[in-house]
Amino acid sequence: MPTDIEIAQSAHLRPIPEIAAKLSLTPEDLIPYGRDKAKVEPSAYRDKPRKGKLILVTAINPTPAGEGKTTTSVGLADALSRLGQKTCLALREPSLGPVFGVKGGAAGGGYAQVIPMEDINLHFTGDFHAIGAANNLLAAMLDNHIQQGNALDIDVKNITWKRCVDMNDRQLRNVIDGLGGRMQGVPREDGFDITVASEVMAVFCLATSLTDLKERLGRMVVAYTRAGAPVTAHDLKAEGAMAALLKDAVKPNLVQTLEGTPALIHGGPFANIAHGCNSVSATDAALRLADCVVTEAGFGADLGAEKFLDIKCRAAGLRPDAVVIVATVRALKHHGGCPKAELTRENLEALEKGLPNLLKHVENITQVYGLPAVVAINQFDCDTEAEIALIRKACDTYGVKVALSQVWAKGGAGGEELGREVLRVMEEGENRFTFAYPDELPLKEKIEAVARKVYGADGVSFAPAAAKELEKLESLGFGGFPVCMAKTQYSLSDDPALLGAPRGFTVTVRKVKVSAGAGFVVALTGDIMTMPGLPKVPAAENIDVDENGRITGLF
Ligand code: ADP
Ligand code: MG
Repeated sequence: MPTDIEIAQSAHLRPIPEIAAKLSLTPEDLIPYGRDKAKVEPSAYRDKPRKGKLILVTAINPTPAGEGKTTTSVGLADALSRLGQKTCLALREPSLGPVFGVKGGAAGGGYAQVIPMEDINLHFTGDFHAIGAANNLLAAMLDNHIQQGNALDIDVKNITWKRCVDMNDRQLRNVIDGLGGRMQGVPREDGFDITVASEVMAVFCLATSLTDLKERLGRMVVAYTRAGAPVTAHDLKAEGAMAALLKDAVKPNLVQTLEGTPALIHGGPFANIAHGCNSVSATDAALRLADCVVTEAGFGADLGAEKFLDIKCRAAGLRPDAVVIVATVRALKHHGGCPKAELTRENLEALEKGLPNLLKHVENITQVYGLPAVVAINQFDCDTEAEIALIRKACDTYGVKVALSQVWAKGGAGGEELGREVLRVMEEGENRFTFAYPDELPLKEKIEAVARKVYGADGVSFAPAAAKELEKLESLGFGGFPVCMAKTQYSLSDDPALLGAPRGFTVTVRKVKVSAGAGFVVALTGDIMTMPGLPKVPAAENIDVDENGRITGLF
C-alpha cells in the first residue's frame, strides 16, 4: 500500500469550480485560492433552507494512534456520493504545529483523504494565521493599555490572555516579557498557547456572522482589575480590528475528496479546553447546499460528541440525524487489557473484555441523547474475521446497527455498507434528540450531569478553588452557559489508565475558567497542555520539498 501522501499526489485534482457545481454553486459564489481551493461566499447559501441531513462521526475512546474518525468521515461521504446522495463533508482544519511533531497530517488516510493534502496540512488558506494575528493584536493592545497608564486598573498579576503561534514550541509556554526598561513595556510573566487553543479559534468556530463574531470577540475576558472585575476585549476597544483581520478567514474553505466529493474544511479548535469541531458556518453552509452532511468531532464520543451535541448543536440550533461510532479491533483489545505489542495478533478474549467501552458510547448516543446510531468497524489489515464477527454479534445483541468500513483500503466503495446503514437509520430510526442537561441547571450540576450520564461516574469532586470560581462565575452571570469539559481522551473517566467502561469512580474538577466569547465554562479535570512540544525525533526531520515544489515525508 502506498503512503497517504503518495496516494494524494497521484490523485486527479478536479478544478474547484467543478466541485462547487456539485453543490449547485457557480464560479461567482467562489473566491478561488489557486486552482483547487476556494472560499465560499456566504451570500451563496445564507438564504437557502437548512434541509440537509446531518451525520456526526465520533468514536470509542482511542489509543494514541487515532482510530480513524477523519478517515471514516471522508470514506462515508464518498460512499454516500456513490449511493447517489448530494453529499458534503464538514471537517476541521489541521493545526500546523502537530504536523511537524508525531502526528503527521490530519486529512484522512489511505484511499479516504481530502486533497490537496499538503496544502490542507500546511498554511491552507491562511485562516489560522489570521486567527493568530487577531489573538496577538488583542495581546498587544492589552499590554499597551497597561504601558499607557492602565486606565482600567488591570491587575498585571491577573491577566488571562496569552499570545499564540501555530507551532509546537514548548520554549514559549512560560516567558517573561516587557523587559528592558521604562519605555519597553511592563515586565510580567506571560506565555504562549498554540493558535488552535486560543479562545479566538473557539469564537471563530461558533460565530454565525461577522456581527456575531464581533460581539463574541468583544465579550472575551482578558484579565481582571485589581478589584476583581473582568476586563473584556470590548473594554480595550479591540473587537472591531480583530474582526477586520478575520473578514476573509470566516468564509468556509471548499476542497475535494480523492473521489471528488465536496468538502468544507474550516476552523479547528482544541477538543479539550474548547469544543473540538469545525466552524458552525461550514456546517451550516453544508446543510444548505447538500442533502447529506458528514462531520466529525474530535476525540472519543465522551468528549467530542458530548461537546458537539451540548455546545455546538445548542449554540447553532443543529439537530443531528444520525451518529456513526467508529470502533477498531485494536482499540477494543487495548480496552480489554491487551498489551500494545500484541495488538496486531488475534485475541478474542481481550476483544470481548474491551467491548463494554463501545457499548457505553452506544448507550450514551442512543439513550442519553436519543439519537439513531450506527457502529462503524474501521478495518485494519491485521483484523481477523473472528474478531470482526465478535463485534458484529455484540452490536446485534445490543440492538445497534453495525457495518464494516473498508474505506482506508478501498475508498468510497469500501464504505457502501456503512452508507446504506446510515441512510436506513435516518429513515427508520427514532430521533428523540435531547441535550445531557438544560440551560437553566447551575454550572456545578451541569458538570455532574455530564460526569454521571456520559462518563458513568458516581459523582464529581470539586477542588476548593474550582468550587469558589464556579460561584463567582454564577454571580457574574455566566451560569446559563454550557460546560466544556477538559479531560483525558483515553478513558471514559478522568484517569487515562481506567480502560473499558469503568464504574465506581469520581471525576475531580481542579480548575474552571470562563470562555465568555465562545459562550462556555471550561472545567479542567487535570493539567491540559495548551502548547504542545516536539518529540525527540520530530516528523519535521523527514519532511522535504524538491525543486518543483513537490513535498515528501508528510505521511
Ligand atoms: P482520527 O480522526 O480518529 O484521529 P484518522 O482518521 O486521522 O483518525 O486516522 C489516524 C491514522 O490512522 C491516520 O494516519 C490514518 O491513515 C490511519 N488509519 C485510519 N484507518 C486506518 C485503517 N483502516 N488501516 C490503516 N490505517 C488507518
Ligand atoms: Mg480526526
